[in-house]
Amino acid sequence: MAETVICPNPNLNAFENALQQFESAAKVLNLTPNQVAVIKEPRRIIEIKLPVRMDDGRIEMFKGYRVQHNIARGPAKGGVRFHPDVNLDEVKALAFWMTYKCAVVNVPFGGGKGGVICEPSKLSVGELERVARRYFAEMIDIFGPDKDVPAPDVGTNQQIMAWFVDTYAMHKRKYIPAVVTGKPMELGGSAGRVEATAQGIVHCIHEAANHLNIDLKKSSVAVQGYGNVGSNSAKILYDEGCKILAISDVSGAYYNENGLDIPAIHEHLKTHRLLDGVDKKVKASKMEKPTDLLELNVDILIPAALGNQITGKNAGKIKAKIIAEGANGPITPDADEILRKNNIFVIPDILCNSGGVTVSYLEWVQNRMGYYWNNEYIQNDLSRIMKTAFTDVLSTSKHYNVDMRIAAFIISIQRVTRASELRGLYA
Ligand code: NAD
Repeated sequence: MAETVICPNPNLNAFENALQQFESAAKVLNLTPNQVAVIKEPRRIIEIKLPVRMDDGRIEMFKGYRVQHNIARGPAKGGVRFHPDVNLDEVKALAFWMTYKCAVVNVPFGGGKGGVICEPSKLSVGELERVARRYFAEMIDIFGPDKDVPAPDVGTNQQIMAWFVDTYAMHKRKYIPAVVTGKPMELGGSAGRVEATAQGIVHCIHEAANHLNIDLKKSSVAVQGYGNVGSNSAKILYDEGCKILAISDVSGAYYNENGLDIPAIHEHLKTHRLLDGVDKKVKASKMEKPTDLLELNVDILIPAALGNQITGKNAGKIKAKIIAEGANGPITPDADEILRKNNIFVIPDILCNSGGVTVSYLEWVQNRMGYYWNNEYIQNDLSRIMKTAFTDVLSTSKHYNVDMRIAAFIISIQRVTRASELRGLYA
C-alpha cells in the first residue's frame, strides 16, 4: 500500500489547498465577489453507489463520484481515478485544477473529474470491467462529447476507456468515440496520448532549464511515482542524456548515485507490475525511507504519484533546483511558500502536467472530424502549445512578480472569468 504522507495541517484537504491557490491569484487580479462566486466552486457534484457482482457471487457496493467544476469554456474534461483513497474533496480539487489547466493551455474545455473508491489491483479483470461499465452506465446522461469527456487517471488506463466507450455505444446505439479520450489507438485514440503528459512535462523542464541556465545533459533527476507519468518522464529524460538517480513506486524507492539503467528497468516492468525486485536486476539500492527520494541532491525533482507529498514538514529539506509537478497537487500551500523562499523553481501542475489534456483535446478533435494525424503532427502541436503556455506563464510571473503557480492561475482565471462574463447568466 502507498505510504501515507501526513499533511502538516490535517484540516487542510486537497480542495482547501486548491482554494488557497485560487485566492492568492484572485487577490492579485482584484476579482469582484460576483466574479469569484461564479468560478470558484464546483457547479455539479454527483455521488453514486455502484452495485457490482464479484466473482464469488457477492454483490459489493462501490462509491463513485463525478464533479463538474466549471463549463464556461467548453465541456467538462478530466480523468476518472480508481483508488482506495478517492474522496469527494479530492475529486473536487482535481476537477477545479482541470478547469484552470485547460485554460492555461487554452484548450476549449471546462474542468471535471471522477473517481471510484476501489483498489484495482485487488479486483479480477472481470470485476474491474463490471465496476468500470457500471460507473459509466450510471453517469450516462452526464457524459457526452459536448457535455463531459472523461479520460484515464490514477488506476485507470486505455482498457478502461475502451469499456467506457463501448458502454456508451451500447446505450446510444452508435459509436461515439469523442465521449472519452485516452482510448487505445484501435478505437480512435490519438498517436502520442500515452506519453503526452510526460512529454509535456519534459517540454516544461526544457523551458525551465533554459530560463535558469541549467545544462540538461549534465542534470540529475529523481522521480516519485513510476506509473504512466513518472516512468515516461524518466524514459524521455534518460534518452535525452539526464542521469536518473532515483525512482519510486508503492513498492519503494530505488537509487544509484551514478544513474539508474532505465532501459533495463523498463524491461523488468514488461513482466512485473511494480518496481519491487528491480534492485536485484540493475545496480540500485532500495532506500530505507521512500520519501527520502524527495530530499535528494538532484537538479530536477518530478513528483508523479499522488497529492500532498511535499508539505511544510519536508519542503525545507528539498535540494532540487526545479520541481516539475507531474502529479496533481503534490505540494501544499505552506510548502510552496518555503520553496519560494529557497528559490526553488516550481513548474505548477496546472501547467506542467497539461500535456495529457492537450493531446486529449487533439484526440477529441480527431474523433469529431474522423481524420487522424500522425505522431509527428501531434508532437509538433503539443510542443507548440506547451511552449506557448510556459512562455505566457513565465512572462506573467515576471510582470506581477509572483511565482509560476500564481501566474498560471492569473492567466487561467482571467480566461475563465472572461468566458463566464461573455456567456452571462441564463435566467
Ligand atoms: P498511475 O496509476 O499510472 O501511476 C501512479 C504511480 O504512483 C504508481 O507507480 C504507484 O505505484 C505510484 N505511487 C502511488 N503512491 C505512491 C507513493 N506514496 N510513493 C511513491 N509512489 C507512489 O498514475 P499516473 O497516470 O501516472 O498519474 C500520476 C499522477 O499524475 C496523478 O497525480 C495524476 O492525477 C497525475 N496526472 C496524470 C495524467 C495522465 O495523463 N495519466 C495527466 C495529468 C496528471
